[in-house]
Amino acid sequence: MSAVSTPDGESTALVNAVTPAARPWQKALIRQLLQLRQQDRLPHGLLIELGTRADSRDFGWLLGQALLCSNPGQVPCGHCESCRLMLANSHPDFSFVTRERNPKRDHKLNRDISVDQIRQLIHRLSLTRSQGPGRCALIYPAERMNREAANSLLKTLEEPAPGTTLILLTHHAARLPITIRSRCQRWRIDHPPREEAEDWLAGQGVAAERIPTALGVACGDPEQALLLEGNGFLDKQQAFEKQLQDFLAQRIDAPSLVAAQKDLDNDEWRQLIRDSLLLRIREQAEGGIDEAGKQRLKQLLALFARSERPLQVEETNLNLQLQLEDLLLSMKHAIQRG
Ligand SMILES: [Zn+2]
Repeated sequence: MSAVSTPDGESTALVNAVTPAARPWQKALIRQLLQLRQQDRLPHGLLIELGTRADSRDFGWLLGQALLCSNPGQVPCGHCESCRLMLANSHPDFSFVTRERNPKRDHKLNRDISVDQIRQLIHRLSLTRSQGPGRCALIYPAERMNREAANSLLKTLEEPAPGTTLILLTHHAARLPITIRSRCQRWRIDHPPREEAEDWLAGQGVAAERIPTALGVACGDPEQALLLEGNGFLDKQQAFEKQLQDFLAQRIDAPSLVAAQKDLDNDEWRQLIRDSLLLRIREQAEGGIDEAGKQRLKQLLALFARSERPLQVEETNLNLQLQLEDLLLSMKHAIQRG
């Protein structure tokens, strides 16, 4: 079993989703990685920050494939023994650490990557590796390592077994302890420019009239846009935005707005609110900034930070309802300030 902690069911989905074809905007970074490998200049630890929110485990997988492929060109070949093992999720020199599903919590994803998971990884990396070109461990989303987990990784990050590369893939590098960041070489990858994103989405079969909205909601990230379009979330988002306009214009109150969206789960709620806040933060930042605007932006950013924290709602629906109403009222207050 190559995946240290691939959650049940996720490994299958992962393998099916992966093809050797990288997204066009990912190719430069993969080339850079292959170049370092060729020059024998790979760092022990590579911290790659994603400028997007879309799930990026496929991209991480592709990076692992690039490091282990026996026959890479500009991208992993997709045909060698190593690539085939990667695609079958059974490469002996590849380890993947991610959030696990918790059977005690309805198989929901754990909030953190735990210290036990990192210890298992370290143990695995201490074992003799096969005859391949190297060994790779991928940790994603790396910002989810809790403090103890991050601390336990430090020594390995500094002195891993020869030929080992640890890739820490993250959406929020700043949330990683400085001790981790300082031990890694840091790279960053952003989503492509608008036009390239639109072309790519059209190529994925998204209807032309839906592309601008999808990209808008996804803040320009084509993968996120495709995901939102594919899982029906875009429609939920639009319904919510319409209700939110009514709420901001005092046509409905907060309880009615929450009640109108009663089919949403916690994660969906959080995403809807974050998307709406992001949209308004961007509008505010792009508009002329006077003193009132600055205050408004500050409040919106504080609310955004708050909306990133999980809603503490496990106990009762009433609790959830109250928290959401509170968030919505704060949002209204911030937007209409000044
Ligand atoms: Zn290959």
